[in-house]
Amino acid sequence: MLANELRKKYLEFFRQKKHAIMSSASLLPENDPTVLFTTAGMHPLVPYLLGQPHPQGKRLANCQKCIRTTDIDEVGDPTHLTFFEMLGNWSLGDYWKEEVITWSYEFLTSKKWLGFDPEKLSVTVFEGDDDAPRDDESVEIWKKLGIPKNRIFYLPREDNWWGPAGATGPCGPCTEMFVEVDTVPKCGANCKPGCGCGHYFEVWNDVFMRYNKMTDGTYDLLERKNVDTGMGLERTIAMLQGKSTVYEIELIAPLVKKVKEFTGKESLADEEVHLVRTIVDHVRSAVMIMADDRGISPSNVEQGYIVRRLLRKSIHSADRLGIHQGFMKDLAEIVIEMYRSVYDEVERNRDFIMQNLEAEEAKFRKTLGKALRKFDRILNETGTMTGKDAFLLFTSFGLPLEMTRELAEEKGIKIDMKEFRKEFEHHRAISRTATEGKFKGGLADHSEEIMNLHTATHLLQAALRKVLGDKVSQTGSNITRERLRFDFAFDRTLTPEEVQQVEDLVNKVIAGNLEVTQTFMAFDEAISQGALAFFKEVYGETVSVYRVGDFSMELCGGPHVEHTGVLGHFKIAKQKKIGASIIRIRAILE
Ligand code: ATP
Ligand code: MG
Repeated sequence: MLANELRKKYLEFFRQKKHAIMSSASLLPENDPTVLFTTAGMHPLVPYLLGQPHPQGKRLANCQKCIRTTDIDEVGDPTHLTFFEMLGNWSLGDYWKEEVITWSYEFLTSKKWLGFDPEKLSVTVFEGDDDAPRDDESVEIWKKLGIPKNRIFYLPREDNWWGPAGATGPCGPCTEMFVEVDTVPKCGANCKPGCGCGHYFEVWNDVFMRYNKMTDGTYDLLERKNVDTGMGLERTIAMLQGKSTVYEIELIAPLVKKVKEFTGKESLADEEVHLVRTIVDHVRSAVMIMADDRGISPSNVEQGYIVRRLLRKSIHSADRLGIHQGFMKDLAEIVIEMYRSVYDEVERNRDFIMQNLEAEEAKFRKTLGKALRKFDRILNETGTMTGKDAFLLFTSFGLPLEMTRELAEEKGIKIDMKEFRKEFEHHRAISRTATEGKFKGGLADHSEEIMNLHTATHLLQAALRKVLGDKVSQTGSNITRERLRFDFAFDRTLTPEEVQQVEDLVNKVIAGNLEVTQTFMAFDEAISQGALAFFKEVYGETVSVYRVGDFSMELCGGPHVEHTGVLGHFKIAKQKKIGASIIRIRAILE
């Protein structure tokens, strides 16, 4: 079976089980600063998992593009990719364990669907701890379906508890499904699912979302029981095709072949195989991030930094393999060809991707040699690599922190991250992503501050359109507890008078204490009534529309305040031009 067929079969199976099929959301989460990328199919659904009604109903399924930067260090092993696709189905307070486990089993083993040999399936369940009990219910269901006791494993929280995607939010125990790989023997008598030797290959995870992790670290029960599942497309295809790694499937093998050709070598040592896989994974992932309509190019901040890091790492890996000429565009062509019929945005952004790849490769190749020589010199002269050195290598030689750290680790040296961070605090230029994960806030965080700023974002957009005209349209938005950030297409910054006008308009709406209402309607109807819609690919046929009196009407999943009166005083704190025709505004509520 090929990936295309698996995508179709999965969605067809769940359509038959009365699920509405959604399209993939963007790889770049809207209004959610807790994470840089969409890491799982559940991520764009957080507001609905927390209790909001979803316009398409209580049973949903899709194929979601995902990026996991947390798995970058794992890349090269048989199962982990930075970019992968996740097939998922959800119950929003509808079905529960019995149904979902039974369906998972049916889809995996029925000849009509995937037809895996039931004898090759093993499953894991949550063993229980102080915060939540052992999941004996799931065990009983698996047994009833015919999975024998010796292929059901109890595992602790670190393996069998999923989420939240950010610091807070919906989460719960899970049951994971593994396929045994014949060609990879068990690593020993204690070999079991999750051990990582490659014998047990995890393909699917059913999560029972019963809990909401709060900011103080405690768990609340969610209002209703939700189910969230995720099946890895690449992994499942590998298993269906009898391969033992994801690098051998038709979505990835052509890239591996191309890189091998570039090396000019017949056979590769293990280390070289690892380098090849790194190049393949990283270029593929960077291409898919840049393919998103938000126009992320390699940079030193946020998602752009990840793109830079992926590309620079692959250029360095290529260098180590003796590939000194440009190679990324050839790989990108293959990736684009592979996904253009699945995700429209890939073709749409072809030129953007190609230009960026070329520019980044040229730029980094110029400094790479110098950076490595500088690295060696520091090491020779001082015998170590300090956080300060790592900072210098990044800012002056373009060597991403993670690369310096790896190079240092190869020499047995650990870089003092505290020192790096201190340096960084002095030079706010580099992304926070370079130092550590993201913080509180975002969709998963239903704090008052976030909701207020989210509603204020709608008001800002409406006010901008009234003052500057209908040309204004959102290109990005991001909210933390402290401020909102709003990007829109416009060719100049606002004059002081315009800033004043916008602020006045918003503050008038706040003073008027207008009601904020949510309605559901067909996408076309919403548009014809004048609703603003951005990032079209995330909307289904029936959409959620938020209105603020007669002032604003936007397609949006929420959440929002009920009346504008609670917002306080709105103020534009900063504005700046960030692209040829993109203006970024930061605003606060006082
Ligand atoms: P692992 O323990 O192997 O890292 P996980 O428990 O982190 O996997 P989940 O978060 O449960 O994975 O994601 C659901 C499914 O998505 C997995 O069962 C797997 O098939 C797939 N998946 C997860 N991470 C990756 C990845 N980095 N590359 C490819 N597929 C992945
Ligand atoms: Mg993982």
